[in-house]
Amino acid sequence: MRYNVSIIGAGTSGLIAARELGKQGISTIAYDQKKVLGHPVRASGIVSIRGLGSIGIDYSNAITNTLYGARIHAGKSTMHVNSKTPMAHVLERQLLNQICKEQAEDSGAVVSTGKRITAIDLDDIRSDGGIIIGADGAVSTVAKHFGMGSLTDYVITYKAEFETTISDTRSVDLFFDKEYRGLFGWLCPNTENILEVGIGINPGKINAKKAFDSFIKGKEIADALGDAKMRNGQASIIPMRLRKRIVDEKHRVILIGDAAGQVKPTTGGGIVFGGNAAIIAAQTIKDHVEKGLALKRYELVYKKRFSTDTKVHSLINKIYSRAGTRGMEIGIGIMNSLGMSSLLGKYGDMDSPIRTLGNTLLRKARG
Ligand SMILES: Cc1cc2nc3c(=O)[nH]c(=O)nc-3n(C[C@H](O)[C@H](O)[C@H](O)COP(=O)(O)OP(=O)(O)OC[C@H]3O[C@@H](n4cnc5c(N)ncnc54)[C@H](O)[C@@H]3O)c2cc1C
Repeated sequence: MRYNVSIIGAGTSGLIAARELGKQGISTIAYDQKKVLGHPVRASGIVSIRGLGSIGIDYSNAITNTLYGARIHAGKSTMHVNSKTPMAHVLERQLLNQICKEQAEDSGAVVSTGKRITAIDLDDIRSDGGIIIGADGAVSTVAKHFGMGSLTDYVITYKAEFETTISDTRSVDLFFDKEYRGLFGWLCPNTENILEVGIGINPGKINAKKAFDSFIKGKEIADALGDAKMRNGQASIIPMRLRKRIVDEKHRVILIGDAAGQVKPTTGGGIVFGGNAAIIAAQTIKDHVEKGLALKRYELVYKKRFSTDTKVHSLINKIYSRAGTRGMEIGIGIMNSLGMSSLLGKYGDMDSPIRTLGNTLLRKARG
């Protein structure tokens, strides 16, 4: 059967696009090379509650923990941002994908698993006159085939789980150190007794697994882990910058999610940005099919909504990557002495630094 839209990749972004296109009555198929979607789990699932509200996933069954704050560590300094109300949920990623798949199928889209789409398949879809959405992750076959630019900025990650007794399940710990430039090291209570440990670093001389091994030997991490056994160790990559082209008007191709580089450069979180991009892409395709409007509008709308926040996220990432451990230590000391941690706990927004800055500075100015 010929479909109006073929989505390559059925991760959260591809499945949200499939759901939205299905709702519009546009015939859609999403392909994934995996037989079991979301398996193995290479990524974490910390998502802001506000962000989750924007992407329409019925996620409540996938919640494994709820976070109220974060402890940010650099050298000897720690800042504890703590909120009275929940800030983020930790979601079970495989289950989240399953929920997204069911929502896509309920809306009328077809999800086909266990088939890797090749360059030949892409040419076949194109010669049939179909629109292609590349939702195939950071190492995107679609982006490569249509010459949409390579990933110029990314971090490599390694994460694993440890079954242990967790003293505080309400906060995630983030460790900034010159060894982990690019992103940071983290400890996240995925459940009451599963602690996820991970790092994200710039690609370079040291590989992610070696950096991870050295990270877990650090005193605070070793204390938290005790003699717990490591399981499910996985390496992956996170794009840190929007790809040069995310629309190919001539060949009717759109990139979304990690394939497009739609990730928050401060934390590497991509579920909310990719999900919102999927919704914008589906609306643009509807307007293209029904009114003949250009697909390029997708890029314009996405950038209008997200480019300022993304730029500020990038700037913050540059600042902490370059500051080094000592610089971050001093920065945290200053933030603590200005009472910023309690303001961030009250008014912080994980997805929007602009909203966070606006809210906290306004409150600070008002005293
Ligand atoms: C260690 C780590 C931790 C993270 N933590 C968080 C977090 O806490 N919160 C958050 O919001 N984000 C987090 N992220 C980022 C988040 O996981 C991604 O932004 C998100 O998964 C992107 O979704 P996607 O659907 O665009 O791509 P993906 O989830 O990568 O899905 C792409 C899909 O395409 C399929 N595919 C690829 N090529 C083909 C092909 N040729 N044919 C068929 N199928 C294909 C793959 O099998 C895959 O299922 C993390 C990432 C990593 C690596």
